[in-house]
Amino acid sequence: MNDQNNMNNGFGGPGPQQQGPFNNMNGNMQGNGMPNNGPAFNQQNQGYGMPPMGNPNQQFNRNNNMYNNGGFGGGMPPMQPPKKKKHLGLIIVPVVLLLLIGIGVGVFMHLLKSGYLYEHGQLVKIYNVTGKCLQHHFTEADCTHPETCEICGLEQGDPLGHDWVDATCTEAKYCDRCGEVEGEPLGHTCIQGYCERCDEYQDELEDEIYDIIAAVALGDTYFDYYLTHLSYYDLQYDKGWYEGTRDMSYFETAYDSYEYAIETCGDYEEFADIKEALQNLIDTMPMDKPKYNVDSCQKYCDDLNDAIDLRDPVTEACSDLADLLEDD
Ligand SMILES: [Zn+2]
Ligand SMILES: [Zn+2]
Ligand SMILES: [Zn+2]
Repeated sequence: MNDQNNMNNGFGGPGPQQQGPFNNMNGNMQGNGMPNNGPAFNQQNQGYGMPPMGNPNQQFNRNNNMYNNGGFGGGMPPMQPPKKKKHLGLIIVPVVLLLLIGIGVGVFMHLLKSGYLYEHGQLVKIYNVTGKCLQHHFTEADCTHPETCEICGLEQGDPLGHDWVDATCTEAKYCDRCGEVEGEPLGHTCIQGYCERCDEYQDELEDEIYDIIAAVALGDTYFDYYLTHLSYYDLQYDKGWYEGTRDMSYFETAYDSYEYAIETCGDYEEFADIKEALQNLIDTMPMDKPKYNVDSCQKYCDDLNDAIDLRDPVTEACSDLADLLEDD
């Protein structure tokens, strides 16, 4: 204010040559129809050549006139408002765009979080196109796989590992969770009698046992029959072994029956004992007739007695076999 006052003082102060423009300026001002300023200005003009007097309001008004008339020309609208309108347009468009983008992102995020995009397979499509998994959806881990994202295949954590249940006589080792089987069932400790592991009765060889026992019994019957006849003829006739052994066929039937029992035993461990006993028996049984001399007859008699002795182990083994049937 003070600078402008000084300027005006200097402006108003000089001589008559400067008064002309000053008056013209005043005239223009009046022509512009700004009467309010007129009086103040005129008043100042009347005091031509005088330093401005004390009224600060008058000086202020005059400054305004100077400013409006000289600097910007009369009647022009201020410059600022049009600039503001342009800026407003430049701001509104991006704001609206940002707003729309924001709404779009908001809706998208809502659909993502609510699971809509996942349920409708959109996440997979997005992943296939962009290679970005927007939201992992992990499957539960199982025995052999860790948690795995259904969409991008990302794995996390470790597989659970199998929950093995030990093998039993009849079931192989298996996983209690996924059912995977490994190896074979252990099998029972025997195929006949009670299993030592599970105590279950096994009767796989039952038919064979009956066959063996029956065959041994038949053999014994014929063996005894032969001995009876032998003794009888031996007692009744002194003529020699031929007479005494004419019923050799009994002995042969006994032999055949024992042999059948041995075949029935097969290679089963359960029948190992009786098989051995029977084999010893038939190996010892004298099947060739003795010759008509004392030595030969003596040897036949000795062999026969040995065979008779070997029937006891057979009887014992048969009894053990019957035990395997006992609780059936
Ligand atoms: Zn994923
Ligand atoms: Zn498993
Ligand atoms: Zn068992």
